[in-house]
Amino acid sequence: MEAKFTEAYPKAPDAAREAECGRVSDMLDLMIDGEASSEEQRFFNDHIEECVNCFENHQKQKLLKGLVSGHLKRVIVPQSLVRSIKARIQETL
Ligand SMILES: [Zn+2]
Repeated sequence: MEAKFTEAYPKAPDAAREAECGRVSDMLDLMIDGEASSEEQRFFNDHIEECVNCFENHQKQKLLKGLVSGHLKRVIVPQSLVRSIKARIQETL
């Protein structure tokens, strides 16, 4: 169990990674507006492939800009989670 968890999150955050995250968050607007250079785009895409936080920030930022407005109507909470929460509540009653 523990080994699997470690595999999913192989890299601990370190100073270099944090600096990259800062750079990526500064670039979010450029990327979404399509104004980043090809070198910046490569850096950005490489980073969000490995960094869930920045990937999610990018998704949220895109949502805010309305570029993926079709996704806004989606239910954010998975049904399976809703069901398990409801079951949990009923158990305690
Ligand atoms: Zn990051």
